[in-house]
Amino acid sequence: MQDPAAPQEFEVAIGSAMAAPEAFGASFEATPPVHEFELGEGLEGDPAIAFRRTLGMFATGVTVLTTRAAEQVHGMTANAFMSVSMSPPLVLVSIDRRARMGAMMHEGTRFGVSVLEAKQKGLSDRFAGRISLGVPEPTFAVVHETPLVEGALAHLVARVMRSYWGGDHSLFLGQVEFARYGEGRPLLFHGGRYERLIEDTRVFSLLPSELLDPILALGSERSYHEGESIMRTGEPGDELMLVLEGAVRVRRPGREVTLGVGELIGEIEVLYPDGGRVADVTAEGPVRCLVVSRESLVVALEADPRAAIALVEVLAARFRETV
Ligand code: FAD
Repeated sequence: MQDPAAPQEFEVAIGSAMAAPEAFGASFEATPPVHEFELGEGLEGDPAIAFRRTLGMFATGVTVLTTRAAEQVHGMTANAFMSVSMSPPLVLVSIDRRARMGAMMHEGTRFGVSVLEAKQKGLSDRFAGRISLGVPEPTFAVVHETPLVEGALAHLVARVMRSYWGGDHSLFLGQVEFARYGEGRPLLFHGGRYERLIEDTRVFSLLPSELLDPILALGSERSYHEGESIMRTGEPGDELMLVLEGAVRVRRPGREVTLGVGELIGEIEVLYPDGGRVADVTAEGPVRCLVVSRESLVVALEADPRAAIALVEVLAARFRETV
């Protein structure tokens, strides 16, 4: 039974996947001729595989596209998602002509885009039709009558404005009606594999106290009043700070944390000050910090090269996690 309240665009027969692109008529021009392409040096064998692998070098996030057909929610994993325009707000998705999802997308159809969080690999597999053991049933929030995967890092609801011929895929241009994002890390896809960002910024905090204490001993105290800015994005990161009293709020796009007594700020920047600060740091109340300048740090490391080696080991171990 069709929901009488459901907008007309949801009243779509699901079984006609191959008919999807043709349903758009004027948006699909005549099929251009097939073009051969040249493979670069060292790339031999099946050109289709080489092409796929080449495209796989483009690292992306992972989304689940969702829509409703009558009472049913349908989801599909897609990484062919891109932002197109800010004004009007437009996004584009590319859907395989064989996918059931494509058959549900018509001009005017609303679709959801859920940007998956690093821990949602299982959901990505699930919505790609792959076996994903032990993954809990997905749950959906409904916004603008459109299902969105709960727990995702960001959500968009868009309405299909135009669609275009895209070879064995169809391109759907959607006007965004709703957008939100939360905090967390994205799931990434690169070279046919899931990847993740390493954002552990601890370096000095992982040193044993016998190596860290002599560095901190060269610091001097500084106080801040409530709401005072301690560090600003883009400033040179030439100081390492230890919170001695109070708490500080660290804000960067998509991420906010509070650091308290005993925690260090600016651990990476002080080793690479030209990169600039990557976050705004503000005092949450009265704050007292121990400040070690980069010059003092260099003096401490020259005095005890064991500390310098220990820092390199910490960074090498972090690098190891990504390769
Ligand atoms: P189906 O294959 O029928 O469904 C997909 C899966 O989702 C099935 O397992 C189904 O059980 C499950 N599912 C659907 N709705 C629900 C629900 N309500 N509750 C629970 N489970 C549900 N293909 C593209 O066309 N474009 C892309 O950009 C793209 N990117 C991809 C990126 C990655 C990382 C991966 C792994 C795959 C990608 N794919 C892409 C492939 C695509 O996800 C699969 O081909 C998918 O199976 C096509 O979905 P479908 O619409 O045909 O539906």
